[in-house]
Amino acid sequence: MYEHGTAAAHLLTRRQLRASGLRPGGHDPVALLRCRRCAYRPLRQCTRPAYLYDSRLALPRRTPTLAQEEALDRAMAARQTCTTCRTRQPYCLPRADRRCTACATGADLAAAA
Ligand SMILES: [Zn+2]
Ligand SMILES: [Zn+2]
Repeated sequence: MYEHGTAAAHLLTRRQLRASGLRPGGHDPVALLRCRRCAYRPLRQCTRPAYLYDSRLALPRRTPTLAQEEALDRAMAARQTCTTCRTRQPYCLPRADRRCTACATGADLAAAA
């Protein structure tokens, strides 16, 4: 258990690992870090300690492969393509009918007329 700011340089929290482009390499946290608020109250039982990982055991973060990106893009395209005019919009369409604003408005106008 470390006090805030006293952990060895190679011990990083999950957030710090991520900021360095690393991820925990499948190992368990090696230590606990008492939170910042507890730094001034050594006797207090820390209820929110952070887990510390050894950055020497950490692995580089996986970057999405091209295939994953393509799959993601297909999913986005499905969400952004209007079912009426088949145009891809730069925003996600309402899940209910998947129509762009123009088509939805046009349909409303037609219904009102
Ligand atoms: Zn604490
Ligand atoms: Zn449309």
